[in-house]
Amino acid sequence: MIPIQPQSPETAEAAVQRDIQHYMRPGTLQLGSLPPLSLYVHLPWCLKKCPYCDFNSHGWSKNDALPENRYIDALMADLESALPLIWGRTVHSVFMGGGTPSLFSPESIDKLIAGLRARLRMEPDCEITMEANPGTFEKDRFKAFRAAGVNRLSIGVQSFDDRFLQAVGRVHDAAQAKAAVREAADNFETFNIDLMYALPGQSIADLQRDVDTALSFAPPHLSIYHLTIEPNTYFAKYPPVVPEDDTAYDMLDLITASTTQAGMKRYEVSAYAKEGHQCFHNSNYWQFGDYLGIGAGAHSKLSFAHRVVRQVRFRDPARYMDMALAGTPLAQDNEVKRSELPFEYMLNALRLREGFALQTFMERTGLPMSAIAKGLDEAQAKGLITRDFGRVVPTERGFDFLSDLQEMFL
Ligand code: SF4
Repeated sequence: MIPIQPQSPETAEAAVQRDIQHYMRPGTLQLGSLPPLSLYVHLPWCLKKCPYCDFNSHGWSKNDALPENRYIDALMADLESALPLIWGRTVHSVFMGGGTPSLFSPESIDKLIAGLRARLRMEPDCEITMEANPGTFEKDRFKAFRAAGVNRLSIGVQSFDDRFLQAVGRVHDAAQAKAAVREAADNFETFNIDLMYALPGQSIADLQRDVDTALSFAPPHLSIYHLTIEPNTYFAKYPPVVPEDDTAYDMLDLITASTTQAGMKRYEVSAYAKEGHQCFHNSNYWQFGDYLGIGAGAHSKLSFAHRVVRQVRFRDPARYMDMALAGTPLAQDNEVKRSELPFEYMLNALRLREGFALQTFMERTGLPMSAIAKGLDEAQAKGLITRDFGRVVPTERGFDFLSDLQEMFL
């Protein structure tokens, strides 16, 4: 790990130079080419912290103005300090996540996207996603985000039923959720609805109603997550009563059957899409592509000829802004150990319905096939994967026991 110290702007510049040499020095990996690069932008504020949420999100009172301008200035300073690490590379997708990015005004989002375009080489048809929450919805706001350059919206609906929205502490109600999805469908060629299942008190019939309501809007993409109780959340301290595991499995079967009937394909553990509407950005994560993350607490994964590096920005928004504006946004900077790369790769690639090409494993990790041969043999013997000379694909059983499968590469 490279220790990161608060520094003056001059020292920060020298540090960037030193870091580039550090990243480029010889090492034991051999990456013949670099993977596609995506950009993640973290906007950390929400109206209220949800009780199940372990993201870097911070409640913001409606009465105070968000420090939008200062935060965007910090993002631009952050990006500029990282540019030497991605010189000459094209950005294939941008994802503004949070937090609730739709709390930012359309004017600020316009300024942010213009700032990114001025500093980065972006693909002409670059996918630019923004997360939005119904609780922040105002008529025509989504249209203004579209005009600002956002071309894909991801709406955090979670449920269309007031009982379950209240049970998971969401600030919006069912009517707002429906209005938000309608507005997204009117203004975006492609959009995603986020739903959750196995909610406190939810029955199979309740979930069927939620899924049917979601599908009635003909969404090009659905992400459906099992409610999980994460450490250090309100729900971890005061756990709600949630459906039994068997019921949750039945719920997953229901989701898969209903989405298939609606012409959607499950292409990742939690993601369903119509043809041509898979999320490029998330697919790039799952294929072990590169991403530069800017913003409070954002994570990056960047490849160089002889190493793969992970970085984390300062987590607290106020500290992040101070440090980014001083040219030193990094809280952590680690090289991924050679021994950790197989598991890191499998953690992502095995989430994909179509699995991965062995060639891609070698290109993205810089490791030979022998690094995963033992794990592949074991997984195949247990019926968790199928494979030929070119490709590894998780079986239905492998998908059902995904963490067991992934752990075989630890
Ligand atoms: S709206 Fe999303 S990011 Fe914000 S607190 Fe709730 S779950 Fe977390």
